[in-house]
Amino acid sequence: MVTFVGAGPGAADLITVRGRNLLEKADILIYAGSLVNAEHLKYTKQGCRIYNSANMTLEQVIEVMEAGVAEGLSIVRLHTGDPSIYGAIREQMDLLAEKGIEYSVVPGVSSFCGAAAALKAEFTLPQVSQTVILTRMEGRTPVPEREAISKLAVHQASMAVFLSSSMLDRLCEELMAGGYKTDTPAAIVYKATWEDEKIVHTRVGELAAAARENGIRKTALILVGDFLGGEYDRSKLYDPSFSHEFREGAE
Ligand code: SAH
Repeated sequence: MVTFVGAGPGAADLITVRGRNLLEKADILIYAGSLVNAEHLKYTKQGCRIYNSANMTLEQVIEVMEAGVAEGLSIVRLHTGDPSIYGAIREQMDLLAEKGIEYSVVPGVSSFCGAAAALKAEFTLPQVSQTVILTRMEGRTPVPEREAISKLAVHQASMAVFLSSSMLDRLCEELMAGGYKTDTPAAIVYKATWEDEKIVHTRVGELAAAARENGIRKTALILVGDFLGGEYDRSKLYDPSFSHEFREGAE
């Protein structure tokens, strides 16, 4: 059996209980060495065969899985954050399915949640934004034209931009082309929940300069939107005058 497991954003204790249990029982571990905290390896049992997928191709990963399954071994494929976000798991799952190999997926804490926790921020504030856009700039992986940052920016929603910290001049231009003001609050969160986490509070117009000043070029999320500012309305749910299924509001 193959299980894709989300390792969480960084800190090794941010994996789920289910993920840790599987990790402890795994006979084979294939982990994404470029971003997964190596501390997770400490939890594998003696004799667990460990592969770092950073220097493997898709075919090599599948080969290791196929051989392991043939031996009746349990295999964990450890991905950073949550595997459903830029995890390249679909292509692995489809190849396994073609070979008739069973697999399952255990979710993880994505780095956009880790970054919000680091900032003590809430993406969805009443009267500010009720939508979170998870996206990226186009790099070597193309992004459909209709999802260009300038088009998404029109919504003025809360945004978490992955895989883009080396392209901040362009990101900033596109955000402003879409309608964000130069002084819209923004944050750069480098290695959220890792020991060397770094948080930079800035504004859309100063994103690139702020990253340069702090020497940040990778492993960072760019968060943008007025949810990082000071103004919002209180929630209805906890308003004393608001009644709902579980609580009678005061007149
Ligand atoms: N599946 C992962 C994302 C993988 S793509 C998840 O759910 O988080 C890799 C990108 O994720 C990086 O370029 C960076 O933008 C972001 N990222 C991953 N871990 C991060 C962390 N601890 N802090 C900030 N950004 C992170």
